[in-house]
Amino acid sequence: MENKKSILVVDDELDFLTVIKRILQVKGYEVTTAPTAGEAVARAQTHFYNAAILDISLPDMAGTELLSVLLEMHPDTIAVMLTGHSSVQNAVVSLNRGAFAYLEKPLDPDHLLSVLEQGLEKQRLSLENHRLVAELEERNRITNILLNISQAAAKTLDLKQIIETALEKVTDSVTVEADFLYLYEEKLVLKGQHGLPESLAGRMAEQVEQGLIGRVYQQNEPVAINDISAEPDLAFLAKEGYLSGACVPLAILGESIGVLGVVTRVKRHFTNSDIALLTAIGKEIGIAIQNSRLYEQASSARALRELDALRTEFLANVSHELRTPLAVIKGSASSLLQPDVDFDEETRRDFLQSIDKDADRLSRLVNDLLMMSRLEAGALEVKRKPHHLAEVIAGVKDRLDSITVRHQLLIDIPPALPPVKVDDGRIGEVLTNLVENATKHAETGTRITISAHPEKGCELVVSVTDEGIGIPPELHHKIFGRFYQVENSKRGNRKGTGLGLAICRGIIEAHSGRIWVESASGKGSKFSFSLPVEEPAGKGKPELVRTV
Ligand code: ADP
Repeated sequence: MENKKSILVVDDELDFLTVIKRILQVKGYEVTTAPTAGEAVARAQTHFYNAAILDISLPDMAGTELLSVLLEMHPDTIAVMLTGHSSVQNAVVSLNRGAFAYLEKPLDPDHLLSVLEQGLEKQRLSLENHRLVAELEERNRITNILLNISQAAAKTLDLKQIIETALEKVTDSVTVEADFLYLYEEKLVLKGQHGLPESLAGRMAEQVEQGLIGRVYQQNEPVAINDISAEPDLAFLAKEGYLSGACVPLAILGESIGVLGVVTRVKRHFTNSDIALLTAIGKEIGIAIQNSRLYEQASSARALRELDALRTEFLANVSHELRTPLAVIKGSASSLLQPDVDFDEETRRDFLQSIDKDADRLSRLVNDLLMMSRLEAGALEVKRKPHHLAEVIAGVKDRLDSITVRHQLLIDIPPALPPVKVDDGRIGEVLTNLVENATKHAETGTRITISAHPEKGCELVVSVTDEGIGIPPELHHKIFGRFYQVENSKRGNRKGTGLGLAICRGIIEAHSGRIWVESASGKGSKFSFSLPVEEPAGKGKPELVRTV
């Protein structure tokens, strides 16, 4: 049944009040009467009247004044002004101040009732209009909040970032002081919080399965917590001054994957629409999290496939790399062993040199394989002692000279470089590897330069620069990976294994250094690595470092 409409009648003639009250009550209105403006204002302060019938001349205030006061309090009230003395002036003032109608005494009751009916119908339409506008605004607000959160969360596929951004947006959007998010990973794990004091982090991360948060997750149902202190398992939040809150499940396709919680330091009643909004936010965050997980799975599957393809190619290359020198050794040795052929001294020497060269090649390959497996096992030992770079280069000079017979090797090292604390043998291997790579990718006769300079006072940067084919920038980070080889860069019958630079990186990192390349296609390459400079205090003390 529709609520009775309430009408306030203000007149100092008590008989008139009695009559009018009866007429209106008969028509089903709820009527309140007041003989003075003061009493009328007092009543209007605590109650909304659908209509007010006001006498123009009251003992304590002009009726037109009272009209303004009442409409100021309740702009939707329908006001009908009454007077005993017809006055155009009063009519104009009243209508200007917002009165719906102006009637003269003596009143025609039917006329009054029909004016009231019209006024109340206008009010109904106006209130309905307000309601629709408010509903539209609320829908708009909710859509904006959801859009805002889903856009923020969709900006990244990084789970941590999604959670951080979403939690920050939630506190702003639903005006709470703090929020937190748990995801189920064999148990509920706290994945992020925003606005909570640091001191709570530990307590929040503890097991929550048995409490309210666990229930929200298991039952996949939101919970409004109007009084946090009444929840024993959230006592730690109450102790920090949080009074109210709410928890909603993070759900994807109806299945709960975690819990989103919000808390406030002011007592707040979380209404059904608050909970509906939080639940919708929970869904948006759930979707962003699911996207990130799917992406992660796809990426690691792709990475595994790539690694698998690289390993397969690596095995093919290794067998090729083993077979080629073996074939040379076997062929040369068999020739020498033929009983019926007598080779002259020069030919015998050529065979022996081939055997020697390819045996070295085999031995290097086996070393590379061993080195790689040590690096992978985190078991590469480096024995670091203070050395001057010039000494390290001198140690491998013969080898460098033999590798660069078809190139010009330049060593451009300033005389007063600080010593570095390195395993000279290992760093010698890195230099040899880089120079050998340069010879493989640069034309005969071009220059290969080893240079060095101190940097930031605590590092020595050593570079090997060539004038070869270069490497496109997008491959720079890849070439230091295991097994990676640039397509079409293989020269002659040497296929390589894609291990060289990975080994160099492993050795340099075991020295707490970095290795990188600056290069572009057709512009030559400059491979550089940094080594920490030896601190004077620790001089001369050998050190064993294990890579991890
Ligand atoms: P490998 O030489 O056995 O192929 P590396 O790990 O030493 O393996 O090198 C990886 C890839 O980097 C090589 O396949 C080659 O294409 C590229 N590369 C290395 N050094 C150079 C260089 N100086 N100039 C051009 N490309 C190079």
